[in-house]
Amino acid sequence: MTRILIAGAGIAGPALALTLVRSGHDYDITIVERSPHLRATGQQIDLRAQGITIASELGLFEPIAARSVGESGIAFVDAAGKPKAVFGVNDSGKGQQAITSEYEVMREDVVDILYNETLNAARAAEKLPNGPRLRYEFGKFITDLQQDGFGVDIQFSDGLSERYDIVVGADGQSSRTRQMLREEKSFEFTGLYLSYFSVPRADADTELSKCFHLSGRRIIATRTGNRSTTQVYMGTMVETEELKLSLRKDMDEQKVMWKSLFMDCEWQNKRFMDGLDNTTDFYAQQIGQVKMDKWYKGRVVLLGDSAYCPSPITGMGTTASFVGAYVLAGELVKHGEDIPAALEGYNKILRPFISEAQRVIPGAPWLFYPRTTWGIWLLQTCLWVVSVLRIDQIFHQLMPEDRGNWKVPEYPGLKLN
Ligand SMILES: Cc1cc2nc3c(=O)[nH]c(=O)nc-3n(C[C@H](O)[C@H](O)[C@H](O)COP(=O)(O)OP(=O)(O)OC[C@H]3O[C@@H](n4cnc5c(N)ncnc54)[C@H](O)[C@@H]3O)c2cc1C
Repeated sequence: MTRILIAGAGIAGPALALTLVRSGHDYDITIVERSPHLRATGQQIDLRAQGITIASELGLFEPIAARSVGESGIAFVDAAGKPKAVFGVNDSGKGQQAITSEYEVMREDVVDILYNETLNAARAAEKLPNGPRLRYEFGKFITDLQQDGFGVDIQFSDGLSERYDIVVGADGQSSRTRQMLREEKSFEFTGLYLSYFSVPRADADTELSKCFHLSGRRIIATRTGNRSTTQVYMGTMVETEELKLSLRKDMDEQKVMWKSLFMDCEWQNKRFMDGLDNTTDFYAQQIGQVKMDKWYKGRVVLLGDSAYCPSPITGMGTTASFVGAYVLAGELVKHGEDIPAALEGYNKILRPFISEAQRVIPGAPWLFYPRTTWGIWLLQTCLWVVSVLRIDQIFHQLMPEDRGNWKVPEYPGLKLN
């Protein structure tokens, strides 16, 4: 029996657990989640490229697609809300997903689907005498890890200690597991700060996401889809010491900070300012990518955002988590007790895909955050030309959905569809 500890019940951790449990091998898996309950929160995430293939293999594609928010595209608007340029989804059935994917879903739905699927798979596996076992433990995290060539000794926040064959850090962009591996310098900041919160849906909100540019490298965007609430995104590329420090403060202090940054917004000002006052789901973060030469050290391996966060700019975070979980599970099953070979296989096979997933449009995000009103006019004019000539549609239809010719490896031992 291989004892596996996974830190993080977000998307990557449960996706790995599900794939391993479905394999039927005798894995004994524990998922510890720092939060006292499942963090089924967050805004829109999307499924793209090889992530669609893997979600299908795991039987997750249909439930995820069924919860699509039905976003129809994005409009760049002026202060009166009048569209200057509109980009739709690529629903031609050919080529690559557009800026807006056909499979835009709320993070809470994907987290919820994965959690329930893992529990169902674990219940089914309990009937097998030497089948896999899976348990979740909430409100618990790793406080110390020490490893030798044969296992990892873990000290937990509840005072208990255990030894595992493998420890997987699937604990997100600011991973503590990564910090314990002394890999603090792996986060590359793009210069962009984003905040997210929800407001009630207004009559003028449609399935079309809307994005308004403010001078001074700022944007405000709304996303509603078919939902009764509207997600608001505020972005700024002007870093100040106060803004940086505010991320460590409590939610109310952060809201005051973001209010001061956007109080001159000419589009739906009262709605957004009142929204900031009243929201309870405000969240702000630095947007960046995690880049590491190696995703494991000994028997501790990183997965998902903790290893290779591609950032929301690429729209590939969820896809990278699914693909990473599949490859890690596949390599573990393939190499059996030779865990070093499995982790090296994961590190080597997945890397070309992650390089593609982390690829950012040249000039982004700076190009999309002009400093002056003239810069905004120029950007919107360029976007208008591209949208009117349908250059984006032609481009997306010609490009393959899969990234970088990277073929999803076959792992017969996983016993998927
Ligand atoms: C609350 C939340 C909201 C998000 N909202 C968005 C969004 O709106 N748009 C978007 O594109 N992406 C969002 N993301 C990120 C998105 O989920 C990831 O980019 C992607 O899906 C990869 O998933 P992941 O499992 O690697 O990381 P995450 O989804 O970040 O999951 C990591 C999990 O680990 C847990 N955790 C953290 N530290 C520890 C620890 N020390 N021990 C145990 N558990 C720990 C976290 O609570 C979380 O449940 C959000 C993430 C979180 C946690």
